[in-house]
Amino acid sequence: MRKLDQKHIQWLENNFPGRYTIDPRERSMYSHDIGSIPATIRPFLGNTTPSAVVQPVSEEEVQKPIKWALSERIPLVPRGKSTSSYGGVLPVKGVIVVDFCRMAEVIEVKDDTVTVHSGIS
Ligand SMILES: Cc1cc2nc3c(=O)[nH]c(=O)nc-3n(C[C@H](O)[C@H](O)[C@H](O)COP(=O)(O)OP(=O)(O)OC[C@H]3O[C@@H](n4cnc5c(N)ncnc54)[C@H](O)[C@@H]3O)c2cc1C
Repeated sequence: MRKLDQKHIQWLENNFPGRYTIDPRERSMYSHDIGSIPATIRPFLGNTTPSAVVQPVSEEEVQKPIKWALSERIPLVPRGKSTSSYGGVLPVKGVIVVDFCRMAEVIEVKDDTVTVHSGIS
């Protein structure tokens, strides 16, 4: 499992003040999606609690952690509404979850196509 050090946490504090968490209880809520993983598969996944969660509010703020995580070699897992229920949002490598809950706007409605942010319900 990838551990974050104090330098990483300071980066999160500087770039996502009030919109990141390393709190164990809050992080545990990101350790599952709406489905329940079958007991026979669960042991293969190991620890699915992320090391931290960030909540961007704009495209620029999505790009920021990607560039940083690439340079620090920290895996990121995007999370929409976590409704896929097949475990795609489970952070199996102790990573940072990028939670899109604050990006939930309709961007454009054109003909029969609606463009939306990833966190929309
Ligand atoms: C009851 C039920 C019925 C369904 N019926 C259908 C159906 O008829 N047809 C169908 O196609 N699907 C169906 N689905 C699946 C549905 O497509 C998923 O629930 C939905 O796509 C997941 O969206 P989400 O935002 O909740 O993503 P999540 O569940 O949060 O994530 C799904 C995957 O996408 C990734 N991801 C999330 N956000 C981003 C992002 N911004 N950028 C890149 N990757 C991202 C995640 O890491 C994960 O791997 C059904 C699901 C349920 C629970």
